[in-house]
Amino acid sequence: MKKLLPASVVNQVAKSRAQEAEERQGYKPGRKQMKDIKEAVTDELIPKAFSIFRDTRVWIDPVNRWLLIDTTSAAKAEEVLALLSKSIDSFPLQPVQVPQSPAAAMTCWLAADEAPAGFTIDQDTELRATGDSRAAIRYVRQSIEAAEVRKHIDEGKQCTRLAMTWRDRISFVLTEALTLKRIAPLDVRLKRHRSCIIIEARPQQIKQHMTLASQRALQRAHARIDAIHASLGSFELLCSGTLSQRMMTCGKPNCRCATDPGARHGPYYQWVRMRAGKPSQRYVSEQQAVILHQAIENYRQVKKLLREWEENTERLIDAVQPPQP
Ligand SMILES: [Zn+2]
Repeated sequence: MKKLLPASVVNQVAKSRAQEAEERQGYKPGRKQMKDIKEAVTDELIPKAFSIFRDTRVWIDPVNRWLLIDTTSAAKAEEVLALLSKSIDSFPLQPVQVPQSPAAAMTCWLAADEAPAGFTIDQDTELRATGDSRAAIRYVRQSIEAAEVRKHIDEGKQCTRLAMTWRDRISFVLTEALTLKRIAPLDVRLKRHRSCIIIEARPQQIKQHMTLASQRALQRAHARIDAIHASLGSFELLCSGTLSQRMMTCGKPNCRCATDPGARHGPYYQWVRMRAGKPSQRYVSEQQAVILHQAIENYRQVKKLLREWEENTERLIDAVQPPQP
């Protein structure tokens, strides 16, 4: 919250107070007295001043240990961090460390005309001279000839802003300060998950909510889902239930099985499963049991994969901004 108290208002009120003081004491207030008057006026007016509320959203991911601030202004980020350290006793934070400066990495991608896996280079870019001149060349919605780019790079320019798209889904501009700007989801259906997820293009709602880190987490989720798809394709037999092998007595009083447990008949293979909410059982032959055993084992694995599929889908959902209050 910020109080809106213009200096001109303080000065105006202080001026009339100074006049009152002059009439009272017979001489003009000096510099010291004027300063006191201004301070008194400020204290008096602050409670009446308009308040401006500012909303800076913060996303804390305790699992992957990320703190994301929805701003590209260092001052606002500092404000948030100061507030956090005031409110939470121990909140150790470290800025993101990267092995290569963003400018060097972006220059490298641009020169090679190749982005890291999963990313594509878009048309907006800025190249800046590294010397004192900081002369900049900007390309907006204009593709750049590779030869032209190399010429600028050879002249010592570095890429300071680069528009990119991740997996044809989310476009953004990466800057030399490692901030992400103009984050916008593209209006695409996610490949291979046609039935479940549609990301709509609502760039005003989903802004700077992702860092490279959360994008990496997303990438992992997508990769896991792809792997699950591949695994699921390898199953042919599938049965729920349990299979048990048992020896049985026939019930005839003069049969040996009635007195000797070792003489019981079998083995018999019993298959129990739920059907319409009720357990149902049937006996199967030994040959059938071999197939069934594999099918039941498959069922367990498929269920495990489905649970993982759900968990990773939830990660994709979590990556999108929740509704605003
Ligand atoms: Zn018997």
